[in-house]
Amino acid sequence: MGFHRCQYCLEPTREPHQFPNLSTGDINLSFTSGRSWVMPDMICHYMADHKWLPPQDFIDDVLTSKLCIKHQGSSGYQTVAQSIRRVTTIMTGTKIGYLTGDFTTGTVPPGFLARLKILMDLATTNLMRVQTKGLPPAYIKSAAIKDQNGVVYVGHRHHKIFPLMPEELIRDSVQGFVTNADRFVTREEGAAIAYTAGQIPEPKKTLFSEDLY
Ligand SMILES: [Zn+2]
Repeated sequence: MGFHRCQYCLEPTREPHQFPNLSTGDINLSFTSGRSWVMPDMICHYMADHKWLPPQDFIDDVLTSKLCIKHQGSSGYQTVAQSIRRVTTIMTGTKIGYLTGDFTTGTVPPGFLARLKILMDLATTNLMRVQTKGLPPAYIKSAAIKDQNGVVYVGHRHHKIFPLMPEELIRDSVQGFVTNADRFVTREEGAAIAYTAGQIPEPKKTLFSEDLY
């Protein structure tokens, strides 16, 4: 399964939901209060559609604290090791909204869900969300070149890879990268993956190994 579906929704009734009842990832919200929370994508669904009442500390943070965006504007480029550390940091907050069994019900204050949704979107666009279901979190592992026969050569820098290739196959080869799942991607796709993984601080159209290491 590529996602986690809410177990409290009665199938196959499919009653309309105010918020999506699926999760494919976890989001971290760290607040100026000093508290840090990790939640599944569908946390708003639990409150809006199942009347789950979260702890008061969480409600207070969402309504009154400011979000700490740790990785925004960080200077320099993130290595693979740094991006793994970032993912680990995201996941170390207090777990909230991973519901099992019975839970406390009640009504959250007016405006709470709208504000939480904004904070979750803000955290997501600032690399504080981790994909946990479906594909594993992808990152760029190494420079690579694919020749016209589909053979992939891997190396530290592209110009160091050419000598490894049969000379007659270099002309129509494609320069790119391999991911942690050893999948070959073009420089363009590589740029998108590296940005999502937090390996480069700004979006780019094409990726160069010098951007990474
Ligand atoms: Zn549900």
